[in-house]
Amino acid sequence: MDLAQVRRHLRFISSDELGGRMVGTLGNQVAARYISEHLHSFGVQVVSGMNDYFQEVFLELTDPPEDGFIQIGATVLRAGTDFVSLGTTPEIGSYQWVKVFPESRDDGDGGYRHVQVDQKVIIGSFGTGQDQATALKGIAARVRRAAERGAKALIEIYQGENWDRLKQYLMRSRIRLQQDGSLPNTPTLPYFLVYGDSVEEAAWREDTIILDVQGVKKKKFSSSNVVGVIPGTDKSVSREFVLLVAHYDHIGTSLLLPGASQDDYIFNGARDNGIGVVALISAARSLSYRPARRPIIVLATTAEEQGLLGSQYYISAPVVPLKDTIFALNVDAAGFDSTDAVTILGLNRTTAASQIKEACLQYGLEPLAGSSEVQSLFTRSDNFVFAKSGIPSPTFTPVIRSLNGKAFQHYHQPSDEAGDDFSFEYLLRFTQAFSAAARLIANSDTTPRWVLGDPLRKRSFELYGDLN
Ligand SMILES: [Zn+2]
Repeated sequence: MDLAQVRRHLRFISSDELGGRMVGTLGNQVAARYISEHLHSFGVQVVSGMNDYFQEVFLELTDPPEDGFIQIGATVLRAGTDFVSLGTTPEIGSYQWVKVFPESRDDGDGGYRHVQVDQKVIIGSFGTGQDQATALKGIAARVRRAAERGAKALIEIYQGENWDRLKQYLMRSRIRLQQDGSLPNTPTLPYFLVYGDSVEEAAWREDTIILDVQGVKKKKFSSSNVVGVIPGTDKSVSREFVLLVAHYDHIGTSLLLPGASQDDYIFNGARDNGIGVVALISAARSLSYRPARRPIIVLATTAEEQGLLGSQYYISAPVVPLKDTIFALNVDAAGFDSTDAVTILGLNRTTAASQIKEACLQYGLEPLAGSSEVQSLFTRSDNFVFAKSGIPSPTFTPVIRSLNGKAFQHYHQPSDEAGDDFSFEYLLRFTQAFSAAARLIANSDTTPRWVLGDPLRKRSFELYGDLN
């Protein structure tokens, strides 16, 4: 591609009209359509078994309710103030309750050995002897245990000092992959986290509790990963797919944020991840017109900004078996500190480092691994989802020399636009280097792997077996 082409792609993808490409919006769908139509025009194939380039990713928006109450004796607890409701909806009514004492948790049965909880509401304490993060992570397991014993609901009492912050965190709307009750992190019972100070001691003399409150509200919707395949030229490596990944979604607008400017409220995401989308389109074009030895899967993911959801969905429903996916080269961007280099998160962790470096140097860009602080971004993009599955997966990103520098100046700001100060010349060389890296890896004589001693090599053995 030339300068005019990369400019046109970036200016379209980051245009105000796409409204920040937030999942669940038309702008997000238009971006997906734009990518798929370009894949089609290059001759990128629809994956066999799929109707088109769209892999539907099933999402849900969850909102804890802000009304409803729990009554214990004379104490009335209000949803969203005194407690947060995070599980399913209980039947309205009066229930017997029973305390499961944390001090008896070493009874060999999680505190349940000597209590009869069937058909009752369990009152427990939230995270005794645990830090808050561990206690939060453990909710699902504690709910499951309560459900297995036949309980009607689980109420946990929070005794810490951060109730307001914790409540605010738990009350926020969230987007996640749609979950059915069979998934481990889905509460399958009404669950309430109650602020301890809001319950008077006397309340516990009552032996019933009244629940009149909803569970967490869910709204189901979907967005799409865009995926296509480019066959390779060498039959001997026809089951060694190289995955090229860039997320195309962004974070929408700030219209709902208090104090947001009415002049510029659109998060255009020109850098994050317009740059990656242009690099992906550019590589798809180059590899379609002149294929490499190995086949390529082109994957534009959605809902990365919501917690790497599109890539997680892909892992659960890969279009070719993961064990046939030998490498995932991700491209994601925050911004750039200069126009003379590229940062590769995980550069020296895979045996493809030499090809990636060669590709950058071909276009006059210095390939940098970056400081350990910069390398910590390795876990912050879609590559991490693939990496955790064992697939060697670095992220190609415009140069970040510091986390406090220019590279993050526009990060998740309405100013992340492709305006006059944007270097399209750098964008062109960056996308060329990305395409070249993809080509060199796909043409390589040897199959790329994690380097010896890398912590993710173990997962790799599990995925690929004795190929290592
Ligand atoms: Zn990003």
